[in-house]
Formats: sequence, structure tokens, C-alpha cells
Amino acid sequence: MEIPARKVISNNVYSGFEDAVGNTPLIRLRKASEQTGCEIYGKCEFMNPGGSVKDRAALYLIKDAEERRILTPGEPGVIVEGTAGNTGIGLALVAAARGYSTVIVIPKTQSEEKKEMLRIAGAKLVEVPAAPYRNPNNYVKVSGRIAENLGAFWAQQFDNTANRRAHIETTGPEIWAQTNGEVDAFSCAVGTGGTLAGVGMFLKSKNHNVKVGLTDPCGAALYRYYTTGELKSEGNSITEGIGQGRVTGNLEGFTPDLSFEIPDDEAIAVLNDILKYEGLALGSSSGTNVAGAIRVAKALGPGHTVVTVLCDLGQRYGGKIYNKQFLESKELPVPDFLRNPGLPDN
Ligand code: PMP
Repeated sequence: MEIPARKVISNNVYSGFEDAVGNTPLIRLRKASEQTGCEIYGKCEFMNPGGSVKDRAALYLIKDAEERRILTPGEPGVIVEGTAGNTGIGLALVAAARGYSTVIVIPKTQSEEKKEMLRIAGAKLVEVPAAPYRNPNNYVKVSGRIAENLGAFWAQQFDNTANRRAHIETTGPEIWAQTNGEVDAFSCAVGTGGTLAGVGMFLKSKNHNVKVGLTDPCGAALYRYYTTGELKSEGNSITEGIGQGRVTGNLEGFTPDLSFEIPDDEAIAVLNDILKYEGLALGSSSGTNVAGAIRVAKALGPGHTVVTVLCDLGQRYGGKIYNKQFLESKELPVPDFLRNPGLPDN
């Protein structure tokens, strides 16, 4: 099978899937901006073809393996990865476009919608009980063993720095250009840390005064690590894809200037505001990210430009953060539109 060369045919006409990854717009978040006196922008990563920020990492992980001759375009190859879902979706789609197959190991606790999308994208799914990283049955460890047994390529998004390179070479430069170099701060949560460290490193290389903020879900280890030096998680956040318990390879050599811990109810309240004021129904990590950008804006004071990431869409969490029973079971506030689904009074 012949793989077409990467080529943008003309403005907005692409030669294939990979050219459609990235170059996402920034959206000004009206309520968050008015509330803080800053300009707060969300980078619309949900507009990537696989529906999340992780398409960028997936593309770089596969291209890096091809450059290292671990995979050969046009020849059969198997990619194995442990993922909360979105990296797996990106990998499965890029793999399909380039003639490879994928085995995805995912914790059972992740949303059914992401698992469904993985099946639709052609991945072989291995569901495992959620277990901490130190446990040999943790999904990342299981994926490593499966890759070894199959003699397959283990993408290793957490420690393979091709992941953050995607953000050093694409997301960071896009944000710099979109803000005409006037960005004062960038903040987001961490899954692998590829987005935070990659964008952070690039923006600081352009202007060392740019502040980079980690906005961790409540109880995750890194907030405590960067503020007290203690690496310990005691969280039970309902957010997915974020909340890291260790300093991954992608975070090595990078330290955020600011760190905040965002409770789930604050993230959910912000998601409801985004739906109401911006017309966007986003996934849980985007709620943490925008709540975090508001905290960063408040810390810097009015007049600053803050950018964060809108990672994926709420559709991927229909049974969770957009489900009344689920929210009630977690003792989280239920927004009015989920409480009263009938027709409005006239
Ligand atoms: N949000 C979502 C929904 C994700 O799936 C991920 C990746 N697991 C992230 C945020 C975090 O991105 P990164 O891995 O670059 O830290």
C-alpha cells in the first residue's frame, strides 16, 4: 500500500487525515473574560478529526516510530497503547490511515462513549480494572506487557517525548501566532503532560515572561508536588484523561510557574457556564482547564491574555457529567437543563 506524501493541496484542502490535525481556532470565552477583566481563550482541540487534543500526540508518536524504523508505512504493524481513550482514538485513526492496526488498553472506569468510538475506529480493546501506576495490573503496565508479547510498537505516550514535541512544534506556535505573541499565560491540566510542557516550553522560548500554570483536578499528585515537593495523590475526581501521579518523561525538565487544584464542582459549574454563554458542550477536562484559566487570570490581575485548551466534546461523557443520576451519585450539582428536560414554560 502506498502512503500519500504529506501535502496540503490548497487552503482548507488536505491530502489526508494527518494534514487535518491541528490548526485549530482559539475561541474567546466571554463569561470567563468578563468575570476576570482578562482575555481568556480556549484552543478548540475538539475540532481535530479524532475529536481531541490527543490527535496531535498520536500523529507524532506514529511518525516518530516510522522515523526510527519501528514501523514502516505500507507494511503491517501493530501499535499498542494504554490510554484513557482519546490517545487511543487518535492512534487508531492515524493507524488506519497508514495501514497499521491498534490494541488499546483502557481502564474500565472510562466513559462508554470513548470505548465505543475506539471500537468504531477499529481498535482492539482490552478493558482492565482501574489500578494505580505502582500496581503491575495498571493499564499502562498491561499495555507494555502486551506490546512485548506481540513484538509490537508500544507508543508510550507518558514517557515518549515525541508526544510533547507535537505541542512544541504545532500547538505552541499556533497559540503564539494566534495571539500575535501577546499571550501572557497558558494553563491546562496534565494527563501525560505533553500539552502543558510542550506548549509551555515553546511559549517560554519565545518570551520567558509567559507564565505557565498547572491546573490539576482535586486530589491529583502534581499540584502537591509542585507546591510542597510531596508526590502523593488522594483524589477521586470524576474528570477523565487528567490527574497524573508521577513526573512523566514528558514533564521532565519543565516546572510550571503556578499550580492550582480545581474541585470537580467548580469544573462542572464552569462547563455549564460555557454551554450557556458560549454554546459549547465540552468534556470534563475542559471544565478543569477553563476553571484553572480563570484562577490564573485572577492571580495575574486584569488586562492579561490567558490561553487554555478545550480538549474534547461533552458527547464523549453523555452517561457521566451530562447525566443527572451520575452527578447525583457523586454529590455534584445538577444543572437545570438536566433536572428539567421538558419543554420550557411559555
Ligand atoms: N483532556 C483529555 C480529555 C485527555 O484525554 C487528555 C489526555 N489523556 C488530556 C486532557 C491531557 O493531555 P496531555 O496528555 O497532553 O497531558
